[in-house]
Amino acid sequence: MAEQKGKILVIGGGISGLTTALEAAEVGYEVILVEKNPALGGRVSRFYQYFPKLCPPLCGLEINYRRLKPNSKIQTFTDSEVVSITGNAGSYKATIKTNPAYVNDKCVVCDKCTDVCPAERDNDHNYGLDKTKAIYLPHEMAWPARFVIDRAKCPDGCTKCVDACDYDAIELQAQETTTEVEVASVVYATGWKPYDAAKIENLGYGNVSNVINNVTMERLAAGNGPTKGVMLRPSDQKKVEKIAFVQCAGSRDENHLPYCSAICCLASLKQAKYVREANPDAEIYIFYIDLRTPGKYEDFAAQIQNDEKITLVKGKVAKITEGAGQNPVVEAEDILNGGMVNLEVDMVVLATGMESSLRGQSVPEAVQVDENGFVAPSIQKNGVIAAGTVKFPADVNSAIQDSTGAALKAIQTVVGS
Ligand SMILES: Cc1cc2nc3c(=O)[nH]c(=O)nc-3n(C[C@H](O)[C@H](O)[C@H](O)COP(=O)(O)OP(=O)(O)OC[C@H]3O[C@@H](n4cnc5c(N)ncnc54)[C@H](O)[C@@H]3O)c2cc1C
Repeated sequence: MAEQKGKILVIGGGISGLTTALEAAEVGYEVILVEKNPALGGRVSRFYQYFPKLCPPLCGLEINYRRLKPNSKIQTFTDSEVVSITGNAGSYKATIKTNPAYVNDKCVVCDKCTDVCPAERDNDHNYGLDKTKAIYLPHEMAWPARFVIDRAKCPDGCTKCVDACDYDAIELQAQETTTEVEVASVVYATGWKPYDAAKIENLGYGNVSNVINNVTMERLAAGNGPTKGVMLRPSDQKKVEKIAFVQCAGSRDENHLPYCSAICCLASLKQAKYVREANPDAEIYIFYIDLRTPGKYEDFAAQIQNDEKITLVKGKVAKITEGAGQNPVVEAEDILNGGMVNLEVDMVVLATGMESSLRGQSVPEAVQVDENGFVAPSIQKNGVIAAGTVKFPADVNSAIQDSTGAALKAIQTVVGS
């Protein structure tokens, strides 16, 4: 290994940022990992299962946490954002702003505080489908493993959690802190966000009952989700017997996302399997324009398509309206059989695409983004490097491969500086 000259700053603690941080640290480089949420893991921590193996994503995260925990080369800042970066490759100054968690490292996650907490908040991990207490664990596999307090939800003067805590772990007066760091290389791994389906007016999201998006579907299926894995629709908790998936919801559309997100077809096929496993009698309809399941995923797709309870309808969905009993009605073309389809179902899942986390955000001058907010693939002006889905929509495997390459690029910047 070349002589250590400087540190690597990795922004974003999802699977991509974790990969870059671990790959660089495990060959001896010092890394500062900054995550804006209270826990690491990113979007993957909210999935029920990963395609193609359909194992729980928490297994993959657990392996990364086991690598991370003993590694003294990685300094992790959660609840934090990088508010400024100045300098050039080899010599950057960055300012990290950290919001207080109001709970320190003495927390043993014993739950006594949540038992006495009188206030609630929307559970963002479950996309608002249920509530947590104002003092909460971000999710059951959260790292750092400690509670966090949503102070805006605390009743005035309430100290019940402080009184209940046997470990002196709660600090209600904690303040925001600022840390200045000097680093040689900066890696952006801030990932993606789901496209806002409410912008696709004809598909009824937000107006028609029981039209949800695909990320919410992951939580509805998850055993540790709001319905404990029982497929119940949001409006009245009715068991889902008949469901439609609408592909390319906003994707490949100049008015919304002009590109294909690469994973939505696979995600819907995976979710169709969730439905069939939860209810063997369930009927599933998938409306698609082209089914895109490239390379090694062909077999996975074929296996699910062979299920006689899953019907694929090639045709664009014209609109979704509210029918009787809070049932959404899907109106679509059926290109292969000819004519229009009017299908009443219990629930519709919109396969919304992946949008860059940076779209619409202001980014430091050194970071060049394209018209869709994705970071341009090459090393940036000033040596800033991007990793994973902030660069292009991708599955986890591709994001990990790209992030491993980003670790090498970051090391080269450190060594060359
Ligand atoms: C419905 C759906 C299902 C999917 N299912 C699968 C599947 O089964 N198998 C599969 O291989 N892939 C699947 N994918 C793709 C998978 O989600 C991505 O490949 C994966 O999330 C990429 O990880 P990432 O780290 O690049 O991004 P993210 O998971 O988005 O992580 C980015 C991290 O950066 C943090 N961050 C953002 N901005 C900042 C900031 N300014 N400062 C600090 N931190 C910040 C975020 O909080 C987050 O923790 C699916 C995608 C969708 C839409």
